[in-house]
Amino acid sequence: MKKFLLFATAILLVLGISCPSRAKEPIRVGVYQNKPFVLIDKKNNVKGFYIDVMKGIASAEGLNIKYIPGSMWECLERLNNEEIDVMMGVPYSQESRESYDFTNLSLLSNWAQVYTQKSSWIETILDLSGKTVAGVKSDIDFQEFRFLLGTLGVECNFVELEDYGAVFSFLEQRMADAGLISRVYGLQHEKKYNVDKSAIICCPTEYRFAFPKGKKADLINALDRQLEILKRDRKSMYYRSMEKWFGITREWVFPAWLIWLSIVIGIMLLVLFLISIVLREQLKEKAVQLISRNKQFEEEINERKRVQDELLKAHSRLEKRVEERTSELSSSNELLKKEITERKNTEEKLKHTTADLARSNKELEQFAYVASHDLQEPLRMITSYLHLLEDRYKERLDSDAQEFIDYAVDGASRMHDLIDNLLAYSRVETHGKSFEVTDCNPVLNMALTNLKIAIEKSGAAVTRGEMPKVMADPTQLLEVFQNLVSNAIKFRGADPVKIDISAQQKGSEWMFCVKDNGIGIDLKHSERIFLIFQRLHTRDEYPGAGVGLAICKKIVERHGGRIWLESEIGKGSGFCFTIPAAGA
Ligand code: ADP
Repeated sequence: MKKFLLFATAILLVLGISCPSRAKEPIRVGVYQNKPFVLIDKKNNVKGFYIDVMKGIASAEGLNIKYIPGSMWECLERLNNEEIDVMMGVPYSQESRESYDFTNLSLLSNWAQVYTQKSSWIETILDLSGKTVAGVKSDIDFQEFRFLLGTLGVECNFVELEDYGAVFSFLEQRMADAGLISRVYGLQHEKKYNVDKSAIICCPTEYRFAFPKGKKADLINALDRQLEILKRDRKSMYYRSMEKWFGITREWVFPAWLIWLSIVIGIMLLVLFLISIVLREQLKEKAVQLISRNKQFEEEINERKRVQDELLKAHSRLEKRVEERTSELSSSNELLKKEITERKNTEEKLKHTTADLARSNKELEQFAYVASHDLQEPLRMITSYLHLLEDRYKERLDSDAQEFIDYAVDGASRMHDLIDNLLAYSRVETHGKSFEVTDCNPVLNMALTNLKIAIEKSGAAVTRGEMPKVMADPTQLLEVFQNLVSNAIKFRGADPVKIDISAQQKGSEWMFCVKDNGIGIDLKHSERIFLIFQRLHTRDEYPGAGVGLAICKKIVERHGGRIWLESEIGKGSGFCFTIPAAGA
């Protein structure tokens, strides 16, 4: 700041005044080129506003003035070394007061004014952000203005020029957006340029007379006295000179309210600046967040794209598979259709075959019945005649003939039995009665009664459970019980005979079992024994024709049931069969 004050001081005239009382001793006033305050020509003749004011004061106080031209720095150094008595228009500030003494009254107030291009939008200091601002290279105000902008965070491009005229020209040619010009210079020259004056001003400075510290009290009093007189009188040469050099009729005094306004504006700007810093930080933070979010989004989008691609691929694979499967399916469908048609045909054929079979079975049964029925008559005739032959010619027949007749009678009797059995077998269908609700208890009682002699003879112990009611032909059911119980007695072993007859409900049907402790049957014969005329023993071992179980099977199947064998050789046999329950 001290440097700044020194520099600012250098733009003012330096006046050397030693003492008003010693009128003949010249007062040494240091001057250097500073238009329009001080102008020095080649012959070191001086003129300008400061010179006029000094002349007025000198004539009023009877002072002898001697101007000592030099550079700005030379003037300041001379003031420090007391080689001059006074220097005019030195900026008055806290710092400068420590180095020099000053008059109480100011010589001039000045500040820097921001000019803009014609019709510019720049209105406040913040509008300068990003703009090109021109100023005079050696201008202290320009340096201070740049510092101020920097403090407020307003970033600009700065162009340094040689003088204020160049700054105006730059603005006019639109090579800069704004330019900082001394207020006094501006007032003098602004009309010559096509530029606008903005509302932005800065760097207000008060210029006073400066003296070596503690040496020039009389001179200071004299100058204050004269300045007061000059400034009070509007027609004084002070104001005339001002008009002459600056084109302004009176000094513009920097009003107190403007200072306060500047302070308030400054504080507001500072607050705004702080807010902008906070906002900028928040913005930065947000931007960082946004960037990271953006990154996340990008990653997410890439991931989604990848997944989508995979999905598309999977989809096309799937479509291909579906196509393949569809064609496979349609071909297998065709096959299936074909198979179904074939099956239907087969079923149809089977139906026909079954119907044919049933018909031929019926016919066969019919035939067996008719044949066996019709065969009985000639067989009876054969037997009768054989007996007649035997009775009548008994005496005349030798023993061989007698034996032959016996064989023939026996054969005829066996044939008679066979035919009887065949007839009985075929009668299962032909003479079967329709089904009715049948209580099996009396049916079984009847069967056991019919076999009473055989049971008693064999000493068989018969146990029986409670019998159910079923839908059946009771006569045929009686035949089944009777066949199975008589077989159980017939095929007994060494142990006393034990027969157990039981019934057990299994869902919608009843299961009957007739179990014995007889000789038992090898299970490999479990199918064969149910065929007609199939026997496992000779007639000598056990009498019989091999028809009983075949008839049982036929009866059970006629009732919609099944019959099967459960047996173990030497331990006994069990014949079980099912009949649908009554109401099933
Ligand atoms: P038959 O009793 O007249 O021989 P079946 O048709 O009743 O004729 O029996 C067929 C064969 O089954 C019998 O010859 C016999 O070998 C065998 N069989 C039947 N029931 C039994 C039984 N309870 N124990 C052992 N064998 C049996």
